[in-house]
Amino acid sequence: MKAACWEGKKDVQVLEVPEPSIINPHDAILRITSTAICGSDLHLYDGYIPTMEKGDILGHEFMGEVVELGPAVKNLNIGDRVVVPFTIACGECFFCRKELWSACDNTNPNASTAEMLYGFSGAGLFGYSHMMGGYAGGQAEYVRVPFANVGPLKIPSDLPDEKVLFLSDIFPTGYMAAENCNIQPGDTVAVWGCGPVGQFAIKSAYLLGAERVIAIDHVPERLRLAAEQGGAETINFDEDGVYENLIEMTGGLGPDSCIDAVGLESHGTTIDALYDRAKTAMYLATDRLHALRQAIRVCRKGGTISVPGVYGGFLDKFPFGAAFSKGLTFKMGQTHVQKYLRPLLELIQTGRIDPSFIITHRFNLADAAEGYATFKNHPEECFKVVMTTNGHGGH
Ligand SMILES: [Zn+2]
Ligand SMILES: [Zn+2]
Repeated sequence: MKAACWEGKKDVQVLEVPEPSIINPHDAILRITSTAICGSDLHLYDGYIPTMEKGDILGHEFMGEVVELGPAVKNLNIGDRVVVPFTIACGECFFCRKELWSACDNTNPNASTAEMLYGFSGAGLFGYSHMMGGYAGGQAEYVRVPFANVGPLKIPSDLPDEKVLFLSDIFPTGYMAAENCNIQPGDTVAVWGCGPVGQFAIKSAYLLGAERVIAIDHVPERLRLAAEQGGAETINFDEDGVYENLIEMTGGLGPDSCIDAVGLESHGTTIDALYDRAKTAMYLATDRLHALRQAIRVCRKGGTISVPGVYGGFLDKFPFGAAFSKGLTFKMGQTHVQKYLRPLLELIQTGRIDPSFIITHRFNLADAAEGYATFKNHPEECFKVVMTTNGHGGH
């Protein structure tokens, strides 16, 4: 089959590789119909994520048709269309039973690196390095989905791929970021970063009852999308003071909650970069921390800071005193995608949201290298890339 393979820094190639097969009784094999390139895939592309190996198949945002099932998979049938969460969860462990799916204890066979740094490892991820489980990704004609009883969500036939594909990651990630704000009627939510996750956080904040959403970025295209599609008021931080504007816009109070979706919706996996690539890691942390510091400073007393983005290491000059003094609540972490699949599918079905609004580029999987290069080199116009397959294979 064809698959987009990581061949080294800035080197993605579509290669012929062996098709996946059932390894465990709870596996399913999907024929991929659509897959997206995520902002966090660019971290792999740029070579920031350790434990990638030449030939690794990329992709954690994908959907497709079930073509083969292990004997223990009872809830799927051959021919079902499904979307698959990027976090792999067993459904049985202490954490899965508490709906803390991204904290699953059973799906990262290579947990030791994360355990060394954090004390514990999170769930395994598709297409995101050996440290995160070494699972082949879905930017391919076929993919093996472990724990297929738990993750895949069946999609009704009347919904096109483009409306549901982002249930795999960025829509739930933006939604959880807004949900973590515990929004009350009349609330003002400020969102730093208007990338795809920021855009979904903006829409989700309104869906959850926010009265005002204020979006902060410096890329005009992204701010325009936040205003036109999301209905947000906007602040361009190249032109205006963020703190001063937010204070003025909220009558001196400050936003009720602040979402830090700066940078990319990456997946918390730059961790041992701290050891191997100290300078790079420090640069990323420092860069991102600026928005977080700003959010902590401007958030109203008793408000909430929600962090959907990734922080991999240690934070420098983190204003903990301000957070304490104002009694802020912090909520963060990897998305519990499985928890959100059904409720968010319902929002799509009832027409309350059409997630396809963020797609700017469409490629065939065979042109994945061009897809990555376009996404990397034209960040202002290229907002979200979707790749489709021709859909013929050997199964
Ligand atoms: Zn993603
Ligand atoms: Zn589990």
